[in-house]
Amino acid sequence: IATGSKTYKIAVIPGDGIGPETVGAALEVLEVLQRILGTFKLDYEHLDWSSDRYFAQGKYLPDDWMEVLKPKDAIFFGAVGHPKVPDHISLWELLLPIRQRFQQYANVRPSRMIKGVKSPLANCKPEDLDWVIVRENTEGEYAGQGGRTHISQDWEIGTELAIFSRYAIRRIFHFAFQVAEKRPRKLLTFVTKSNAQRSGMVLWDEVAYEVAKEYPHVTMDKMLVDAMTTRMVFKPASLDTIVATNLHADILSDLAASIAGSIGIAPASSIDPTRKYPSTFESVHGSAPDIAGQGIANPIATMWAAVEMLEWIGEHDAARIWMEAIEEVCAAGTTTPDLGGTENTAGVTEAVKQIIEKRA
Ligand code: ATP
Ligand code: MG
Repeated sequence: IATGSKTYKIAVIPGDGIGPETVGAALEVLEVLQRILGTFKLDYEHLDWSSDRYFAQGKYLPDDWMEVLKPKDAIFFGAVGHPKVPDHISLWELLLPIRQRFQQYANVRPSRMIKGVKSPLANCKPEDLDWVIVRENTEGEYAGQGGRTHISQDWEIGTELAIFSRYAIRRIFHFAFQVAEKRPRKLLTFVTKSNAQRSGMVLWDEVAYEVAKEYPHVTMDKMLVDAMTTRMVFKPASLDTIVATNLHADILSDLAASIAGSIGIAPASSIDPTRKYPSTFESVHGSAPDIAGQGIANPIATMWAAVEMLEWIGEHDAARIWMEAIEEVCAAGTTTPDLGGTENTAGVTEAVKQIIEKRA
């Protein structure tokens, strides 16, 4: 290893379903990058926090999970979800506590059209689609506030309270403006539903305009979430940076990933911008139990997430080399079936590794 080499502590949580397959693929590429560049080293702690652990021990996370994760430079995450566990349990037992307790309040989801990947939209050209969706990651419709009441035997009520605090709205808009101002178009679209939701969403809008005053060089526009889906499909080139609530951004980012070609390529970073706690890097997609174990999962979403992780820890050269290799592999048509190709996970991974090896 070259002198001046840095070591980063990374928690690896492969999780469930295709998680271990795509994380394994990314780790293979990371080995090649560390060996070839010789400028950084990743010190992994592999954690078996998954549904299998839940079946065996009744818990996804150990009691000391915060102490285990806190000293890490980043958390590299596969997916969680099992057909035999309701999703709201696995999500609330594993992912949401980490996001909330570590104040990973910004979930960043870039979408762009990679050369060689076809959009299902005939009108969408590669230069039309280059978006970053910023998702509020700690409250909103995912605040976990609500309950269930039996009024009578056949009348049951469930409530789900969306929580919006001025504090959390402010910080997510500051973050989104800072993403937007670093991009060439300096355009931020904020998504709302304040026409129908008259408390939390109206506060959301008010704070948006307040924070906007601090970023006069960024253009901000407002979109109702329903109209936003139409705009994404029909006028993709009119959008750049997008900020939305926890639920709205969750839905819009699946749409964005699909317009960009496949959910199999979309990364998601859960960031604590203060760097007090480690951030988590994962894919937008889940555990995909329907294709798990077949070796055909697209590893690109998880690889791209690892690229984002390298950017976050400051290894920009490695990140750039890897992303270029991913783009080259897609351009050559070496892709998994979700992108219309005939390769499997191992084939795509091998192709990416070979391109990086060739650069050495
Ligand atoms: P979870 O409950 O963990 O979110 P899910 O089944 O609800 O899982 P996803 O895992 O996101 O949702 O899968 C949605 C669809 O996209 C599935 O048909 C799945 O096979 C497909 N898919 C997801 N990820 C990939 C991938 N990496 N490569 C290929 N197809 C994928
Ligand atoms: Mg899902």
